[in-house]
Amino acid sequence: LTVEELVTATLDNIAKIDSKYQAFITVMDESALAQARALDERGVDPDEILSGIPYGIKDNLVTKGVLTTAASRMLANFVPIYDATVVANLKKHGAIGVGKLNMDEFAMGSTTETSYFQETKNAWDQTKVPGGSSGGSAVAVATGQVPFALGTDTGGSVRQPAAFNGIVGMKPTYGRISRFGAIAFGSSFDQVGILTRTVKDNAYVLAAAAGHDDQDQTSSDRPVPDYAAQLTTDLSGLKVAVPSEYFGAGVDKNVQATVKAAINQLVKLGASVDTVSLPHTKYGVAAYYILASSEASSNLQRFDGIRYGYRASDAKTLEEVYVQSRSQGFGPEVKRRIMLGTYSLSAGSYDAFFKKAAQVRTLMIEDFQRVFADYDIIVAPTAPNVAYDFGQNTDDPEVTYMNDALTIPVNMAGLPAMSINAGFVNGLPVGMQLIGAAFAEATLYQVGYAFE
Ligand code: GLN
Repeated sequence: LTVEELVTATLDNIAKIDSKYQAFITVMDESALAQARALDERGVDPDEILSGIPYGIKDNLVTKGVLTTAASRMLANFVPIYDATVVANLKKHGAIGVGKLNMDEFAMGSTTETSYFQETKNAWDQTKVPGGSSGGSAVAVATGQVPFALGTDTGGSVRQPAAFNGIVGMKPTYGRISRFGAIAFGSSFDQVGILTRTVKDNAYVLAAAAGHDDQDQTSSDRPVPDYAAQLTTDLSGLKVAVPSEYFGAGVDKNVQATVKAAINQLVKLGASVDTVSLPHTKYGVAAYYILASSEASSNLQRFDGIRYGYRASDAKTLEEVYVQSRSQGFGPEVKRRIMLGTYSLSAGSYDAFFKKAAQVRTLMIEDFQRVFADYDIIVAPTAPNVAYDFGQNTDDPEVTYMNDALTIPVNMAGLPAMSINAGFVNGLPVGMQLIGAAFAEATLYQVGYAFE
């Protein structure tokens, strides 16, 4: 099999089945085939496990010469002139980007419904949401259109769609993968993540994607381990902490039972399990939506209708260019975040909102530090429920926000966490979340691999 044949078959399959799921915003036929032919000419490097492997890219990661929209009208015609570092890293390892994947607009949402372009369907049941914001990435992988995809996770956007589609979703430690070229949402939370069907695949991709980058001052210079080489199936001596707050009211009983059964499985593999407390969990959603929206309101100031992106055609003054371009270019959820963030940062409310939320963030970091002083890993559900119907939460954003309660704390603390499938409820997949101490991705892969 040549790389060109593999990529051609991948593109043909996308053309054949994606109309049913609508995971792709853009298919990269030309660049993918060009890269494949070049690899065939040069010869695939047998030491590069990703060489010639097709993959999908969330549409908020910039790709040179390929439309990058962040699923927003604001960027509906935006063609970047460079690759995000993570995309460049994968290219160096021979992986071939075959398309850009649907998402919530600017990654704000949990269902992919805030996309300006299309509604992506859940891989298991097309009447259900795919989760979000990396819904296109999760569905493209779960439906077998690509073996892996990149997403981003600011408050759960890799783990929750992975859970809703029954696949593996890794959000690495903050700083493990460069954010250069990831369209910013909440810069102190944002992290690129990886969606795959197996834990081992995920380990291979992270090793290629991660590493220090001069273009991102928050990227870590710690060496990147060979995660796949460290996989074992023996968990003896592993100390597992189960936080009681993650099994509280609001978390579906069947989801709880499925994850508890999975935890018993870890005990059979040699782990010991204790219940612990992360007492500030209940403030996470409120604090996150203040902090992440504040950062978003600042990051999104660059979309002014002047430098790039959408510009209102009928504006007569400079003020009108700004106001009308932003009014027409941004959707309702993005505007809600900008208003919430601007309000929280304004002189009269800063102390009561932004500052308080930042203090809560510190308390949540300390919660985790206390647990990781005694335990190797925290295990919990990824989301309080399985995938639900379209339109269910659209008139009450607060209900949707509460759905993120179990994924947000990890982003508050910058920790690595991975969702793996723990079973099914009513035919829909349930995610189990493995949370590690900073830079303990290898531990998460070991536990996930043993469980699989
Ligand atoms: N659902 C959360 C939000 O809307 C998280 C999104 C994300 O991780 N990008 O902010």
